[in-house]
Amino acid sequence: MESARWYPRLYRDMKTALFVCGCIIAAVIVFFSQSNDAALKRRILPWYLLGIDAAGIAFVWVTEHSLGLVFLAIPCLVVITALNMKLIKFCDQCGKTVQGWWCVEPLICPRCGADLP
Ligand SMILES: [Zn+2]
Repeated sequence: MESARWYPRLYRDMKTALFVCGCIIAAVIVFFSQSNDAALKRRILPWYLLGIDAAGIAFVWVTEHSLGLVFLAIPCLVVITALNMKLIKFCDQCGKTVQGWWCVEPLICPRCGADLP
């Protein structure tokens, strides 16, 4: 019955952590969609993705306490992060965030037609 006491606390802490993570993710998504500063967005993106990876690993560890699942999650997160790094581009001319879909890297900006770096 020891675990019955910490489950409500874990549930409350997880709700708070998920709410904070959701707010941070929403703020970054709004920033990426509204800001025209491509250089700043390019600097923030890797840290944002690493933060999401760390939160994902922490979520797996806190909820499951399984090293096997953590070691299963790590390669999945590495692949997802690498794809996001490859598929999310920022236009140097207009600053638009352009995301490729279905593993197709965007080559030109849909807003201004400039080549994407
Ligand atoms: Zn553009």
